[in-house]
Amino acid sequence: MKSGSDVWMRADVITRLRAAGCVFAEDEADLLIASAAGPDELDVMITRRVGGLPLEHIVGFAEFCGRRIAVDPGVFVPRRRTELLVEEAAKLLRQGSVVLDLCCGSGAAATVLAGYGDYEVHAADIEPAAVACARRNLEPLGGHVYEGDLYEPLPSSLRGRVDVLVVNVPYVPTEAIALMPPEARLHEPAVALDGGADGLDIARRMLAGAGDWLAPQGHLLLETSDEQLAESCELFRAAGLGPRVARCDDRGAVAVVGRRD
Ligand code: GLN
Repeated sequence: MKSGSDVWMRADVITRLRAAGCVFAEDEADLLIASAAGPDELDVMITRRVGGLPLEHIVGFAEFCGRRIAVDPGVFVPRRRTELLVEEAAKLLRQGSVVLDLCCGSGAAATVLAGYGDYEVHAADIEPAAVACARRNLEPLGGHVYEGDLYEPLPSSLRGRVDVLVVNVPYVPTEAIALMPPEARLHEPAVALDGGADGLDIARRMLAGAGDWLAPQGHLLLETSDEQLAESCELFRAAGLGPRVARCDDRGAVAVVGRRD
């Protein structure tokens, strides 16, 4: 049972968040209240939120596939739309499957998949702060995290062994970054967003290398956008990976799933 002053405090938090333009002010207020150790910390958290910091960076985690994923300030915040990649990947896993999450950011996808069963899970990212987060999330579940550009830091023992390759490359066209919400534009690293002129620069490099790392009949799952869908499917075909499209309209999610022959 909440006391009268708790109800008043919640209403006050909601008012401050709403005035700052937070669309989900009630949900955010509840999360901040639950996360703060006391009124002083709550006040600091609200001030940071009103100042435009992503909620996930303030509370230190993001909800993803029903799990709490640690996300430090400066690290790409896992998006709900990326849950589609995890759901599609989960359908392809067998006991002992080798999973690789490239451009893993906080390691959200790899961590959720590692929690689903007995798999060998690897993840890599180029950004040191993301790698530190991914290690915190994934290593307790027995996974391995590497720091470097795409396949470059991977142990050669993974070559030809990856059954499920899950990838959320940066795919925002450079010019579209200016149109992103300030939370992304100002508080997430450009290296996690910027996909070059047409958004597909990193996807192209990633697809060019995929064949060396996928096991026979291994699958590659790539998050993309409707604008990039046709070209992404073309890149899959060129890499010898017969593509199909998966979507979830509720989450605005589109992914290409390809299989190596
Ligand atoms: N469209 C993604 C977003 O939600 C961009 C993420 C990415 O580039 N991988 O911000």
